[in-house]
Amino acid sequence: MNVHEELLVGGEWRKPASKARISVVCPSTEETIGQVPDAGAEDVDVAVRAARSAFDQGAWRAMNVSERVEVLERALQLLGSRIDEIGTLVTAQMGLPTSIAGIQIPSALETGRFFLRVAQDDSVSEVRQTQMCAAAVVKEPVGVVASIAPWNGPFNMAISKIIPALVTGCSVVYKPAPETPLDAFFIAEALTGAGLPAGVFNLITGDRETGAALVDHPGIDKVSFTGSTAAGREIGRQCGGSFKRLQLELGGKSAAIVLEDADIATTMAGLAMGCFFNTGQVCAAYSRVLLPASRYDEFTAALVATAESFVVGDPFDPATTMGPLVSARQRDRVLSYIDTGKDEGAVIATGGGSPAGLDKGFYVQPTVFTGAQNSMRICREEIFGPVASVLRYETLDEAIAIANDSDYGLHGAVFTTDPQRAVEAARRVHTGTFSVNAFVYNAEAPFGGVKNSGIGRDTGPEAVQAYYELKTINLDAPTAALFN
Ligand code: NAD
Repeated sequence: MNVHEELLVGGEWRKPASKARISVVCPSTEETIGQVPDAGAEDVDVAVRAARSAFDQGAWRAMNVSERVEVLERALQLLGSRIDEIGTLVTAQMGLPTSIAGIQIPSALETGRFFLRVAQDDSVSEVRQTQMCAAAVVKEPVGVVASIAPWNGPFNMAISKIIPALVTGCSVVYKPAPETPLDAFFIAEALTGAGLPAGVFNLITGDRETGAALVDHPGIDKVSFTGSTAAGREIGRQCGGSFKRLQLELGGKSAAIVLEDADIATTMAGLAMGCFFNTGQVCAAYSRVLLPASRYDEFTAALVATAESFVVGDPFDPATTMGPLVSARQRDRVLSYIDTGKDEGAVIATGGGSPAGLDKGFYVQPTVFTGAQNSMRICREEIFGPVASVLRYETLDEAIAIANDSDYGLHGAVFTTDPQRAVEAARRVHTGTFSVNAFVYNAEAPFGGVKNSGIGRDTGPEAVQAYYELKTINLDAPTAALFN
């Protein structure tokens, strides 16, 4: 059992005032594997004050970027020495198969190093000659950041949120999801062990009330949130009132458009990842698959075979390629969407229930709906499970209209052997991210959405820039000399 009674606040591990606790349940065994504090408003207040005071005193932000990079690189090294432990914990917490966790954890650390290189190579001040005078444009850390994460990629999301904020000189209060809070303790220990000044990074655990108290706190300058569109909307309202800076990575209902000239093997490799990776608990998932009428039956049969090729089961078994959903609640939600699809008149081509022979664990079969219409709830709402809905189209214009007929705009794809039409589709689909002939999550390029999928970009060099505010200093001649 991983029992944590304390939270990292102001550089110390402290018992929270709240007596409430959250149990962490392994989704494959249904056993309780850990417990963390369910921090209350009082604990949030202490954590934000600690972060505020660390920022205002300025030891961390006064360092130059190279000095900060050195500390953070040490922290990544410390995490690197515990990759197996972290991977095992991520598998136990959320059911990610070990074969995938073994790749995801080191790759998250590489992404962290990418952010450090971006910050290191970036210029934080620039002098511009204007008609009025010389003006220095300097980048300053935005301040105290409330960073709130979901459960579907706990460790990699934490690294992508925490490292860019810290390397710019911000202070952070980080709240992981209540389903997957355990790996964040490794990150807190590594940052402390690497010599991060007290109060610059604070870890609090808790539920949505904890997150809401954090967002509402007047000591916060910026909120970086990844999670559901419903929560993002609420947070947007809260931040609008106080002009807190805001970065939202929310839900999606992305469409993969398969053109009639697509290569079937390439398409199925992309759809296997796009529809079913992480048991479909991926904001960027291709949950709508648009097939051309001329090859509808052939591609549908191939997609069904792809879904049926997954080995669903114990995530600790190296042969497993699909683990359980994160929680009983999420499993029930996905099964209820499957019922909705059937009621709406879509047809289950494969899957549609819990797999036989697994009497423990929150499993759902990889499921393909055919005969779906874009007006159905299964095509409009995010299911966040291994469920793909197949839609038929006649022309590229129609496919693009269907793809764009969505409240979301996070990701999308085209599968074709014609590069011209690939680029045309990529440009005409209104999303923040798009992939050609694959499912790609590229942490070195900006990732994020338009419409209800969010505001801002969480990865790429842009992730680092998002934690700076620009300040213009209009200079006279003697001060201008200092900037040369
Ligand atoms: P969620 O919104 O319920 O919770 C996410 C986090 O926010 C949790 O830590 C939760 O405790 C906290 N929270 C919830 N309501 C809050 C509020 N009002 N104020 C402050 N904090 C609050 O989402 P979830 O169920 O944990 O995650 C699944 C969702 O996340 C999906 O909709 C998915 O698409 C989205 N997601 C998006 C991306 C992306 O990059 N766009 C990545 C991963 C997940």
